[in-house]
Amino acid sequence: MNATSPAATAVPVVELLIGGRFVPSRSLEFRDVVDPATQAVLARVPFATADEVDAAIGAAQAAFASWRRTPIGARARIFLKYQQLIRAHLQELAAILTAEQGKTLADAEGDVFRGLEVVEHAAAIGNLQLGEFANNVAGGVDTYTLLQPLGVCAGITPFNFPAMIPLWMFPMAIATGNTFVLKPSEQDPLVTMRLVELALEAGIPPGVLNVVHGGEAVVNALCDHPDVKAVSFVGSTRVGTHVYRRASQAGKRVQCMMGAKNHAVVLPDANKEQTLNALAGAAFGAAGQRCMAASTAVLVGAARAWIPDLVAKARTLKVNAGVEPGTDVGPVISCAARERVEGLIAAGVDEGATLELDGRRPEVPGYERGNFVGPTIFSGAKPGMRIYDEEIFGPVLVLLAADTLEEAIALVNANPNGNGTAIFTQSGAAARRFQEDIDVGQVGINVPIPVPVPLFSFTGSRASKLGDLGPYGKQVVTFYTQTKTVTARWFDDTAPAAGVNTTISL
Ligand code: NAD
Repeated sequence: MNATSPAATAVPVVELLIGGRFVPSRSLEFRDVVDPATQAVLARVPFATADEVDAAIGAAQAAFASWRRTPIGARARIFLKYQQLIRAHLQELAAILTAEQGKTLADAEGDVFRGLEVVEHAAAIGNLQLGEFANNVAGGVDTYTLLQPLGVCAGITPFNFPAMIPLWMFPMAIATGNTFVLKPSEQDPLVTMRLVELALEAGIPPGVLNVVHGGEAVVNALCDHPDVKAVSFVGSTRVGTHVYRRASQAGKRVQCMMGAKNHAVVLPDANKEQTLNALAGAAFGAAGQRCMAASTAVLVGAARAWIPDLVAKARTLKVNAGVEPGTDVGPVISCAARERVEGLIAAGVDEGATLELDGRRPEVPGYERGNFVGPTIFSGAKPGMRIYDEEIFGPVLVLLAADTLEEAIALVNANPNGNGTAIFTQSGAAARRFQEDIDVGQVGINVPIPVPVPLFSFTGSRASKLGDLGPYGKQVVTFYTQTKTVTARWFDDTAPAAGVNTTISL
């Protein structure tokens, strides 16, 4: 990780990346990066000053002049090298990620791997950034499009996927010829910084990728700065809505992928064992801190009788530090997050839902100070209860009941969020009806966490997304480029000149 350590015993201080150099911040404001399983302080991260944000944007703006002209093959080869480096450092990256974020080592490798897939896709940029060409749209006239980079783009990322989500952003922005300023989550910036180091090692030139750390003030500065042409944001609905408004107001392209309340719909004809396994994994994996976590399940008809089996399955999951072998559920990111989740569980009890499994304050020998919440299940939840209306972002599964598939679809579509959903059934007709009528971005059919591979783009509907185009895949090539349409005629000097034509024809 790139951090300065003034003395061997001192906590390292995370640096900024400006113009190709890792530099210490001159800020007076810092926060600790804390291991959520032990409370050990791993590093201190600065909140960059306004001058430092300006310097990062300035470096990106200066680098754009030559980077935008860099041939496609040269850009692509950097990402070929980068994917090799990430692969070679997979375990090291996962260990950094687990230490600062808490998820299990296997899940941390998955976090890096899903980002690596986007890097592999960026290496194929030659096939992705292609314009269109129409021959002879009029006599001797051709029309074609150029997909040109925008300039400086900025990315603001959340704590829950500190490898994958930065890798959703800067590789595709840079591969398409833009330069980039990244603002990682201040809660777990270390694995992101290691990935940035590897990106420089892969050959990304000075100034093409820059990193500033911080919170609201830095984000606002990125939204406001006239030289930033596009902003990609992933995080909560509250902050994403603010970023969308503020950056749009400043005339930028903006894409915001935001909060969720993902419903799994379980029909009684589903394969019971597979479905219960899928639900438990998708609700409690990563301690429920995935934007695609199946945090809500709608049990339809006779599937309502499966609750005791689901509870039994959840009880088998092992709560422990992410570094310990055999762990299923690690800690949540911070003490504040644990308190928030515990508060919502208490609210669920107060509001009359049935607490089928209470995961509060589990015993985790050796990690007594960790932010642990064990798998928790409520049944009898309803719209209007806080456990249903709010994104809990912890290992809490909220069960609702419906009599029919139609009723379940109506319930999902009435929820404000539209990030992900899944149906469990053996009926093709029911699954097809679901995919047609459900108003949600990612739809799984017997797939609990249907995050698309980068041949496609991440999508989202209603309160889960603002902006037309999603991250990675084909949509992000459109997001990170400006289409220029050229209509061209080359005169044949041997042909007689046409007269003056005052009509609109070519
Ligand atoms: P967050 O919104 O608190 O933080 C996201 C980013 O915004 C961070 O970089 C943070 O520093 C910055 N930020 C925080 N407060 C700000 C403010 N007041 N003004 C400006 N910037 C601010 O999100 P989080 O807690 O880090 O991440 C969890 C959330 O992200 C969940 O809601 C989850 O569903 C969502 N998420 C969504 C997706 C998706 O693709 N839809 C993916 C991952 C996470």
